[in-house]
Amino acid sequence: MTTHVEETLVLVKPDGVARNLTGEILRRIEAKGYQLVDVKLIEPDRELLAKHYEEHQGKPFYEPLVEFMESGPIVALRIAGNRVIEGFRSLAGTTDPTTAAPGTIRGDLARDWGLAVQQNLVHGSDSPESAARELALWFD
Ligand code: ADP
Ligand code: MG
Repeated sequence: MTTHVEETLVLVKPDGVARNLTGEILRRIEAKGYQLVDVKLIEPDRELLAKHYEEHQGKPFYEPLVEFMESGPIVALRIAGNRVIEGFRSLAGTTDPTTAAPGTIRGDLARDWGLAVQQNLVHGSDSPESAARELALWFD
């Protein structure tokens, strides 16, 4: 494994903030050894969300997803560490919280509530290109 210090964007989605899980999620990130570089509470407008989720535009879950992301404040985190992009995705668990592995944020703390959108607590950038693009959107 080569050393590759990266930064990634993590969002604590509206369900995570509303359920008072921001601290627990940040605790897991810090306990893993990742560095908190920047943090803010934000209520994003539709334009930001459309850019953030542009890869999903046109999919059946897109509209409910954007409505969910507009439903309350979000905590945006810029975190850094060796291979943190892949590492945080692993910490978060797979997209569907019902089958996400125990020990992960989604596996331990989220489940399918029977709603249109999967309320899976967190977003993490999925590649170096996504991380650069998304960090610029949310922090610059
Ligand atoms: P991830 O957040 O794990 O990278 P995706 O990028 O595929 O997942 O999807 C973005 C978000 O859209 C997911 O985190 C979830 O909130 C929602 N989502 C994805 N797939 C579905 C689906 N089939 N039904 C409802 N919501 C979904
Ligand atoms: Mg994604």
